[in-house]
Amino acid sequence: MLQQQDLMEKIVSLCKRRGFIFQSSEIYGGLASTWDYGPLGAELKRNLKEAWWRSNVFERDDIEGLDASILMHPSVWMASGHVSSFEDTLVDCKSCKKRFKIEYIGSKNKCPECGGEITAARQFSLMLKTHIGPVEEAGSLTYLRPETAQGIFVNFQNVVNSTRRKIPFGIAQIGKSFRNEVTTGNYTFRSREFEQMEIEFFVKPGTDEEWYAIWVDERFDWYTRFGMKKENLRKRRHEKTELAHYAKACTDIEYQFPFGWSELEGIANRTDFDLKQHMKLSGQTLEYFDDETKERYVPYVIEPSGGIDRSILAFLVDSYKEEKVRDEKRVSLSLHKKLAPIKAAVLPLLRNRPDIVELAKTLADDLRKERKVMYDDTASIGRLYRRQDEIGTPYCITVDVDSLTDRKVTVRDRDTMAQDRVEAANVKRYLADRLQ
Ligand code: ATP
Repeated sequence: MLQQQDLMEKIVSLCKRRGFIFQSSEIYGGLASTWDYGPLGAELKRNLKEAWWRSNVFERDDIEGLDASILMHPSVWMASGHVSSFEDTLVDCKSCKKRFKIEYIGSKNKCPECGGEITAARQFSLMLKTHIGPVEEAGSLTYLRPETAQGIFVNFQNVVNSTRRKIPFGIAQIGKSFRNEVTTGNYTFRSREFEQMEIEFFVKPGTDEEWYAIWVDERFDWYTRFGMKKENLRKRRHEKTELAHYAKACTDIEYQFPFGWSELEGIANRTDFDLKQHMKLSGQTLEYFDDETKERYVPYVIEPSGGIDRSILAFLVDSYKEEKVRDEKRVSLSLHKKLAPIKAAVLPLLRNRPDIVELAKTLADDLRKERKVMYDDTASIGRLYRRQDEIGTPYCITVDVDSLTDRKVTVRDRDTMAQDRVEAANVKRYLADRLQ
């Protein structure tokens, strides 16, 4: 069994070494709590977003997509309550200088790590400010959005009018959010710039509790459909005292990270808070008119709000495997095939045989037209397999001497390590059948 601390170190090191995740601005010593996704990380991220979008926007008939801008009118953040109350209350330890959220300080009022004396509590705004236009003055102040949700609320009427959607229906969006987090750490788990995948699902008041329960289950199941182990997931319902100012109820889907159970996604019943606030500050109506019942009302909203970066971290941790195969350590990522960054690798068995190399390259070029495929001839076959296992490539295709005459190649499955001899001309079909 891997020690949890070791596991985290192994993931961080694998991510850097193989190009999943790099520290932002590393050559300048890095910028704290900001991360760059490398070649493999970029693929994994795209695949994760695609999977989420497909499940919600394509496969359901009650959700539309949206892509709102990051910069919004500053009044949006007044209306949402973020300007006045999106903050953390923090204390510093006078001895070890560590900073903690007030929630983590017990009744003893001492540093939870070293027992030292702590400072008085201070408020820190989580909003990242910026200025629009050439002059930095009060009137030019706005914020980098701390959640994608508000872009959806302010477009509610636009979407209803342009799509003729009837309630219940949802609007889904994926995009960057920014929070000036003051207690950071745990790798990408708490970053200052991150991506969210959010749905605002608009329902008739009175049906909100039912829809809330449906979404909690749906979102929990989604992670397991993409291979996350059920035993590493749990639902945690918020106590009344924990609820955000806008929420009537909230359940977190938590993942058992190596550093403990932590929030992966939150599903909140945001009531009609946001729409009503925007009505108040903008003076526009955001009511919905039900043609059938002739009723007019402000819808309630159920919000499943997940983090792309936290999901990526959870999927990586969850799929990391070490085992002994023929007395050798084998490291693999058993990522769901839809998420795996590279779908197949073409590997010539003998790299000094131009005829084999040529056949392998031709095959790789052909497969590349449909999906992300890698060609590699820079090591012995055993080494090449290990490299692909470690990044979760579902299929390795080797081209050998016999391939030159029988026009067949060997396809090896990452999870079972079983090998199939397949006509080179049929590999495309073979992969298509298995990567669905
Ligand atoms: P936490 O309590 O862990 O700070 P939160 O309750 O503030 O999270 P929400 O406001 O509910 O988070 O945001 C919804 C989702 O966005 C979270 O479940 C998480 O996946 C993601 N998220 C929020 N803040 C961050 C962050 N700083 N870095 C990475 N992901 C984040």
